Amino acid sequence: MPTDDDILALTHFGEEPKNYLGALVPPVFMTSLHVFDTVEDYFNVDPLDGKQFYYGRASNPTTVIAERKIARLEGGAEGALFSSGMAAASAAILATCKAGSHVLCMRDVYQPVKRFLNGYCVPCLNMSVTYVGGDSVEEIDKAITPDTALIILESPATFVFSVVDLAAVAAVAKRRGVKTYIDNTYCTPLFQKPLDFGIDIVMHTLTKYLGGHSDLMGGVLVSNDVELIHRIKSTLREWLGAVIGPMEAWLVIRGMRTLDVRLRRHQETAMTVARFLQDHDKVAKVFYPGLQSHPQYELIQRQQSGSSGLLSFVLKGAPENGPAFVNKLKLFAKGCSWGGFESLALVPVYTAAQEELDFLRLDRGLIRMHCGLESADSLIADLEQAFDSLTLIP
Ligand SMILES: *Cc1c(COP(=O)(O)O)cnc(C)c1O
Repeated sequence: MPTDDDILALTHFGEEPKNYLGALVPPVFMTSLHVFDTVEDYFNVDPLDGKQFYYGRASNPTTVIAERKIARLEGGAEGALFSSGMAAASAAILATCKAGSHVLCMRDVYQPVKRFLNGYCVPCLNMSVTYVGGDSVEEIDKAITPDTALIILESPATFVFSVVDLAAVAAVAKRRGVKTYIDNTYCTPLFQKPLDFGIDIVMHTLTKYLGGHSDLMGGVLVSNDVELIHRIKSTLREWLGAVIGPMEAWLVIRGMRTLDVRLRRHQETAMTVARFLQDHDKVAKVFYPGLQSHPQYELIQRQQSGSSGLLSFVLKGAPENGPAFVNKLKLFAKGCSWGGFESLALVPVYTAAQEELDFLRLDRGLIRMHCGLESADSLIADLEQAFDSLTLIP
């Protein structure tokens, strides 16, 4: 459960009203540059200290407030905001690997991260990737080679919510001198703090729960390795230029103020919907980390203090039942993404190649839903009308 310190990080920490005329809410520093009295003052700026600013691609005062808050929430020393989750993910990979590096990647990791590895890192940087299930620490230990630079994790991953034993993987990685990276977007720092288990780098897309209102894109990296985050800020973030805009950073600060209350509601509703689906005779399987039927329920209880609003399920019968069911929904909108106020449903792998489905071990008809902030009763009523009007293809 979120601590009092977490709630303070969401509400007040990192903000200094006296620095902006006593304004309770920090302003959007909508500026691309800062100006100086003298040339010497300009050359003396250290943009990494968080208090001095000279150019928007290096740092921005609104962005720094959001970075401090998220680093505090994750229990990390330093954070770096980016223009999207993918900008953060690719910067972390490029900062920890070099040409010829080997990477271990959990099979269920966010698809575009694997596309970046397979479509750029392997052909252009001569890197190699071994995909692992993530449920076996022995498998990970065995797959590490002298060239392994990074282990890429996501827990829970967001198709069928497979989970990794964070403490065990971090211990193996430390012993073998390999860095660990995790996408912690599903849990947010309120429900899981991977740095506490020994993971080196935590990533979030801010586009999901931290922003929380489906009105911004952003990403963040947090670590206790200050040198690493400073290096990323002054090299890859600067050079690739994937900085977050000040308005987006401000919206993240705004969104985070209600993260605790929103997540409680998402969790409660998702739990209600997951149980409803589990009891329904047209449903074959339900995947949700909060259900006791999750194969790794015990591990989840150990390392997560909650589960959020995303779940998935498979209907009985043919895969075509998946899109037919989603099309019958009225309150659940059809769209990708999640983590906002709105409920969503999609069949994310319906058009995937069979080879891809075999690799991911997923059902073509898998339905993924995000339970938003609407009432659980109205969401279940929507599901009920969809079930009632759907004749399953066997
Ligand atoms: C959406 C998502 C991302 C990518 O974030 P963007 O902000 O869209 O780049 C990464 N990881 C997970 C788990 C996601 O759901």
